[in-house]
Amino acid sequence: MISDHDLERYSRQILVPDFELDGQAALGEAHVIVVGCGGLGVPAAMYLGAAGVGTVTLIDDDRVELSNLPRQPLFRVADIGRLKGDVLREHMLANRPGAQINVVAQRLDSLNAPALLANADVVVDATDNREARLLIDRVTFAAGMPWIMGAATRLSGQIIAFDSARDWGCYHCLVSDPGAQATGKCADLGVVGSAVASVALQQVTDVIKLLTGCGSVLWGECRVFDDATNERFTLRLQKRVGCVNCGSK
Ligand SMILES: [Zn+2]
Repeated sequence: MISDHDLERYSRQILVPDFELDGQAALGEAHVIVVGCGGLGVPAAMYLGAAGVGTVTLIDDDRVELSNLPRQPLFRVADIGRLKGDVLREHMLANRPGAQINVVAQRLDSLNAPALLANADVVVDATDNREARLLIDRVTFAAGMPWIMGAATRLSGQIIAFDSARDWGCYHCLVSDPGAQATGKCADLGVVGSAVASVALQQVTDVIKLLTGCGSVLWGECRVFDDATNERFTLRLQKRVGCVNCGSK
């Protein structure tokens, strides 16, 4: 039974058809892991927590820097030098006291990932590099979990939802040579805060749709936008025969 307090708090989203009380209850029981507390992770975690996701785990060992502030406006000048996860957790608890917000002040790597990316309903990729995404892809596939990839550079971004069984392919299928060195990090190419936030909030909407059953998740389609040229398109993923990750073993 939802309390009168929560009925008032969540009244606007409970009104949404197919979201309703059951959707709110599902969010309350859910555990979402957010890997990265930067330009994607800050808005993603804020909106997941505020929507009523019962447990949110934040994984990041970074500290707030001056150059983060335009994309991560929740952080204050006074937070520079503090652990991002700690600051983000404080704000999320101030918004919703009683939420379960876990902070893991570690960088995700191949050794800790199987233990850290476990017992959750979905993982949100809020990292900024391909190696981390390949790792999330492998570990969540092995654990039978879905994940939502997000990436942004300059004024462009892309979002892909990977289903737990990878029926529509995986991130390894997409990356032609997972062993090759990737290029194109935000630190090199530049990025605008509002473009990153657009990606993060689309990832959150995917998570909410997945958890509540309100709307359908566009599994296995790469949604791409470039607000510099005002282009928007989607690409259907192709499951790669003999994929090192999701190919039949
Ligand atoms: Zn694959």
